[in-house]
Amino acid sequence: MELNQLHDTIRSCKNCGLHATRTQAVPGEGPCPADVMIVGEAPGFNEDRQGEPFVGAAGKLLDTLLARISLSRSEVFITNVLKCRPPMNRDPMPNEAEACSPYLARQLELIKPKVVLILGRHALERLMPGQGSISRVHGSLIKRGDVAYVPLYHPAAALHNGSLVADLEHDFDLVKQYLDKLLAPPPPPVPVPKQEPEQLQLL
Ligand code: URA
Repeated sequence: MELNQLHDTIRSCKNCGLHATRTQAVPGEGPCPADVMIVGEAPGFNEDRQGEPFVGAAGKLLDTLLARISLSRSEVFITNVLKCRPPMNRDPMPNEAEACSPYLARQLELIKPKVVLILGRHALERLMPGQGSISRVHGSLIKRGDVAYVPLYHPAAALHNGSLVADLEHDFDLVKQYLDKLLAPPPPPVPVPKQEPEQLQLL
């Protein structure tokens, strides 16, 4: 299934109870394929209204952090663990995350990111179960096969607890260093010197 078809399926999904309270589902947006994919928790009030991820206050902070490392939103694919807003922005329930997980898995297959930025503990638990707490692993680069994952504090957490903004800024600077290495074009092949006829004679 291609990305547009997948997103149509998500928009009409009724696999968990959240379809009853959503205004609309928020599949995610961005280029496909994309080197960088960002995975948050779930749509909030504004996202549910507009049908786009990270368009509220947390999204503004995310834009600022991306600009800090010279990335624009149009270059990255942004989505969430849950595609529908939980009422009153409560935490995702395990059955909701379970029902939504094939969508995220298929997005990862289609978008083929080289680097996945994991925003917050719910996305961390879903993408890297058992990895430990976000406060311990934030900013680290974790390779799994061809994909590198970087857990980060969720921007909404930093809006509630201002002391996390500095951590996020520092971690985004690390992300820039990771991207510079991981996305650098491969070095040109080293030319193989031709063997001189004399050398051949010596053999
Ligand atoms: N928080 C999220 O995790 N995702 C959004 O899309 C918006 C806020």
